[in-house]
Amino acid sequence: MKNAERSLILVHPPSVSKRYLPTRFPPHGLAALYAGLSRRVLPVVQFDRLMDSLYSDADGLDVHGRDRNLPESEFREYLDTGQGPIRLTDFVDRHLAAVPGDGAIYAFSAVSYYQLHGALLLASELLRRRPEVVIALGGPCVTVKPATYGADFSLPLLWIKGCGIEPLSGLLRGDDPESLPGLLRFDKGLVRTNPPSRPPAENEPAPDFTGLDMEAYRYDHADFGPTIFLPYRLTKGCPSACAFCSGRLVDPFSAKSKGKVAAELAELTARYGSKAVMFTDASVNALPEVFLDVCRLLARDLPGLRWYAYARVHGFTDRMAEAAAAAGCFALFFGVESAHPPTIRLLGKGFETPELFAALDAASGAGIKGVAHLMYNTPHETADDVSAFLRLVGRYDGNPLVEFMAQRFLLEPGTLMFAHPERYGLAKLRPMTTGFFDRTEYAYDLADGASREALRERHAVNRHMLEPVLARLEERIFSRDASGIRLTRELM
Ligand code: SF4
Repeated sequence: MKNAERSLILVHPPSVSKRYLPTRFPPHGLAALYAGLSRRVLPVVQFDRLMDSLYSDADGLDVHGRDRNLPESEFREYLDTGQGPIRLTDFVDRHLAAVPGDGAIYAFSAVSYYQLHGALLLASELLRRRPEVVIALGGPCVTVKPATYGADFSLPLLWIKGCGIEPLSGLLRGDDPESLPGLLRFDKGLVRTNPPSRPPAENEPAPDFTGLDMEAYRYDHADFGPTIFLPYRLTKGCPSACAFCSGRLVDPFSAKSKGKVAAELAELTARYGSKAVMFTDASVNALPEVFLDVCRLLARDLPGLRWYAYARVHGFTDRMAEAAAAAGCFALFFGVESAHPPTIRLLGKGFETPELFAALDAASGAGIKGVAHLMYNTPHETADDVSAFLRLVGRYDGNPLVEFMAQRFLLEPGTLMFAHPERYGLAKLRPMTTGFFDRTEYAYDLADGASREALRERHAVNRHMLEPVLARLEERIFSRDASGIRLTRELM
């Protein structure tokens, strides 16, 4: 381990899976947390182990690759005793060697499940080496996880929901850990949560990447060459309430003022010598007039900026596309999910089908690549869903500025569908036996009486009809070389 110069060590944990989209950018949440703490002149340093685990650590853990047979029992055995397969112990040793070993407090900020598993492994070993250290686990993944999740591990960890700036400041001040905002407490089978800290977007500091190896984020973009995309966001939270998504649990929705955005982006791009930005907003155009104002400001004050973002379909007009393109937008991801009106409504997407075509046409008309996410095997899927899916993809065949990414519908905890199954025609929810390292998924019947088995058959038939197109979409994004190795290409 390296020597600590400061006492709070922030860590973006390594992943136990290499199943990630091929996008590299510095961690926004970690760097905003670092900025908030360092502005208070608190002793803090930050480390990102994710990039290393994905791209540099060829022998690293991959529970969707060569470690697919790693059983839950061996993972838990390692947490409890430090004993385990050499690949697991090597993984922990390698990543701990890259962070200071004598910090007083370690805080892991996990965005994905696979990082949460990586954080648990590292935390357990840190506690064996130095039982006196304080270890906090937080980040969006912990915030949306059911509160009971942490109780399932017998490690003395502080699980913290919400923004980490206040609770970690409190820890550094020596406050009683029991009083920390967002702290989860497991008390004789009961789970208690202190109210989390949820500051509005206007109070969020711009990310500060001090101490991170920025070259690790540079990748060879097809159009721009070697580029570092700087993460930044205009808003926190999401004003939409898509029925299948737990994202609404991360933060209440709020927006930064356009003056703050323009000033922070000017400072960030100058400091890091890059005019490429990845907006991390759930929907960059959630507030249409604010978005248009920001685009005008960026076009005027930051010429040469190039950026991509997630955008919502509803309200994405020609006017918006032109303003975005003039401000440097070159790609937008749209959470479309379906082109079949009843399913669009069921999923709570909040747009009409003509708006979907208008949004994709407006983006490509303005020279912006549109990447549309689609879902198949949704609960009430019919042959009409399949036809609408095929018609949508076919409509943009040959348009190099429109791409589709498809994934199977999953019923996950924390979603509106899970919380109110009766509103969505679902019944008898029960947990599925997915792999320990996979996302938690629930099986369901339909309230109209269709059983899980009947649904599976229906879904299999629909999936079969979609198969050639799904294979073609997958091939466009993840083609394979002659030996069958999955290649990746940049989408944006
Ligand atoms: S899917 Fe996207 S737009 Fe919908 S609620 Fe989740 S984060 Fe918001």
